[in-house]
Amino acid sequence: MSEYCRLIRHQGNQNLFQAVEMSVASLVNGQPFHIQAEGLRGTGKTSIIRAAKALLPPITRIKNCVYNCDPVKPHCPLHRHLAAEKIELLGVEQVPRPFLEISQAAKIGTIVGSIDLAKLTDRQNPLAALLPGTIPQAHRGIIFIDEVNRLVDTSPELADVLLDVMGTKPGRVQIEEPGMPVVELPVNVCVWAASNPDEDPGALSTIRKQLADRFDITIAMGRPDSAQAVINILAGQNGNRLPVNVVRSVSCHLENTILSEAVRQLLAKLYIDYNLESLRTVTAMETAARLVALQAGRTEAGLAELVQVAPWALAHRVNENTLAAIMEYLNGQQAELPAVALPVTEPVTAFAKKTISRWTALWYSLKRRVATLLQGQLRMPGCGRSSRGGGGAQFVDPLHTKIIAPPKSAIPLSQLPDEQLVTRNSKPHV
Ligand SMILES: [Zn+2]
Repeated sequence: MSEYCRLIRHQGNQNLFQAVEMSVASLVNGQPFHIQAEGLRGTGKTSIIRAAKALLPPITRIKNCVYNCDPVKPHCPLHRHLAAEKIELLGVEQVPRPFLEISQAAKIGTIVGSIDLAKLTDRQNPLAALLPGTIPQAHRGIIFIDEVNRLVDTSPELADVLLDVMGTKPGRVQIEEPGMPVVELPVNVCVWAASNPDEDPGALSTIRKQLADRFDITIAMGRPDSAQAVINILAGQNGNRLPVNVVRSVSCHLENTILSEAVRQLLAKLYIDYNLESLRTVTAMETAARLVALQAGRTEAGLAELVQVAPWALAHRVNENTLAAIMEYLNGQQAELPAVALPVTEPVTAFAKKTISRWTALWYSLKRRVATLLQGQLRMPGCGRSSRGGGGAQFVDPLHTKIIAPPKSAIPLSQLPDEQLVTRNSKPHV
């Protein structure tokens, strides 16, 4: 525990601390909650994630079951058909909750499962048996994938496995070996991943959108925002005790914290009005808001919780304009509520600060107003793009105008490096 407590919390990383704590609380309640941390290298993503292993409470399993069978709900091929009396005879044991990593060099066989060669080549009792891979062995625990964007880019087949594991809750994994019956297992695991979208091959949402959508929330990792935070990091001492909200959230029942009816209706409205592609967007917001309320010791999640988690659930699923518009709408809703109804929450997260800058929100708001003004003058109702006929003036709908910014800001000619003074538009003929 001490390693996790010693890590310094600052404006740039506090959301990731909260996210891993939310995921652990959800897992303890039997529901996977998948999180991805995006950020520059050296910002401490993997340190926080690996240290969070200390938060995991142990599990009770059927003795020696490598699939981590819950004695009350056995699921593995060896135990799922056994009666309760037989399981009692086998005995139970308490073991650390799994925290397993999938490396960049991972192969399907080691991740999913393969033939157990040790049993197959046993001279006394040769047996064709399956050896469960990392994912089945992580049942009821955490799977961590560092640089998930690179892994998905180089191993699309592993991405397919993750789609199955994260597609439903619980997920599923299928073990196939020639000459052996196909074994399908339920897996209840939280997938935690880290990536640096500024390095090749780019953000996960641009490489494998379907997999990015499987992550309930994505947290943008930031740098320390003050000299004092850096001094604290250099001093390396923060404390040895877990914050009260962490202890509370991993020991309470999530089912006792509900979403307010008004916010549920608001989520449905967001889904329809903003044409959100994936239903996972709203279910992730619902669960995340309840987890935040649980951490705060509340029994109901309201608009304040929704405003806090919305950027985490939306950033990897919608474009920047939609994100800005939804946040503008939610903040407007929040402003209409009486002040007493609003619990004190963090201001819009560091991620929101980065993604929805004041200027972005202002620009989007301006575009909407101009679009409204122009709407009456467009000659083709329902077209929504531009007027083409009728001899009237032609207008371009600003909401559908793609703006391409220069890739780099201009610099004075005198400061331009020599090799950039002369450029060519096409490759020379060979
Ligand atoms: Zn078992």
